[in-house]
Amino acid sequence: MTDNPRSHGRKSITVSLKPRELMTHNPRLAGVWTARIITLFPDAFPGVLGESLTGKALKDGKWQIETTDLRQFGEGKHRNVDDTPAGGGAGMVLRPDVLGRAIDHTLHGTRGNLPLVYLSPRGRRFDQKMARAWSECDGVTMLCGRFEGVDQRVLDHYNIQEVSLGDFVLTGGEIAAQAMIDATVRLLPSVLGNAASIEDESHSGGLLEHPHYTRPAEWMGREIPEVLMSGHHGRIADWRQAMSEDITRQRRPDLWEAYQARKRKDG
Ligand code: SAH
Repeated sequence: MTDNPRSHGRKSITVSLKPRELMTHNPRLAGVWTARIITLFPDAFPGVLGESLTGKALKDGKWQIETTDLRQFGEGKHRNVDDTPAGGGAGMVLRPDVLGRAIDHTLHGTRGNLPLVYLSPRGRRFDQKMARAWSECDGVTMLCGRFEGVDQRVLDHYNIQEVSLGDFVLTGGEIAAQAMIDATVRLLPSVLGNAASIEDESHSGGLLEHPHYTRPAEWMGREIPEVLMSGHHGRIADWRQAMSEDITRQRRPDLWEAYQARKRKDG
C-alpha cells in the first residue's frame, strides 16, 4: 500500500523523505497537531509549508499533514467529482455524495478536537484569534473547494464552518488552507522557539508592529534611528510602542479604535 498513495479509500502514505512526503512520513503521530486536508490537489501539500520553520517542524514530527484525495472518491470510471449547478448557470459544483464519502473517510477513527472547516470567500474572515484557537485544538480538518464551490447540503449536514482568507476570490481552497495552517502552526509552543517574538508581533496585542532595522548602520544615505543604537532599553521600548501606535492609527483605524476601547475598559 505504501508505494501506491493514490489507491482508493486510503489517505496517501509514503515512506521516503522527499519534501512532499514529509507530511505523511509518520502517519497518525499520536498527540501531534494535525492538519487534515480534503483536496483535489494533494500534490500541492505541504507546498511552502515544507520550507523553513514550518518545514523543519514538520520533518521533526512536531505537527503533521494528512491529505485526502477527493478524486479517489469520485463517481464511475472517470471518478467524476462535480456536476452542473441545479437551476443553471456557469461553472460546476462539487457533488455532495462524493464529498460525503471523502469527509466520512477523513473523519473515520478520529479522536480529539479538530474543527471542520470549508475554505470559502463567504466565510468568517480568518484572523490571529482564530489561528490561536486552532493552535489550541488537536488540529484542523479542511475542505478545499474548486470550481463554483460545494453543494450546500454538505455544509449543512456536517455543520461545517466556512472560513475566508480575505475579501477576494481564489480558484481553490489550497492556498488559503496553507496560509491558515502556517499562521496556526507557528503558534504551537514546540514550533516557534522564540515565544517572545510572537508576543509583540502584529495582531497579537492589538497593534501593528513597529519597523525593524539591521546592519549596515547607513544605507543609501538612510540611517538607523538613533534611539535604536543607544543601547537604552527603556527608551527603545518606548520608541517601539510609540511607532506601533502611530502605524496602527494611520493604517488601521479599525484596530486603533478597538485598541483604545480595550484600554479604556481595562484602565
Ligand atoms: N463561487 C464561489 C467562489 C468559488 S472559488 C463564490 O462566489 O463564493 C473556488 C474555491 O476557492 C472555493 O470553493 C473555496 O474553497 C476557494 N476560495 C476562493 N476564495 C477564497 C477565499 N477568499 N478564502 C478561502 N477560500 C477561498
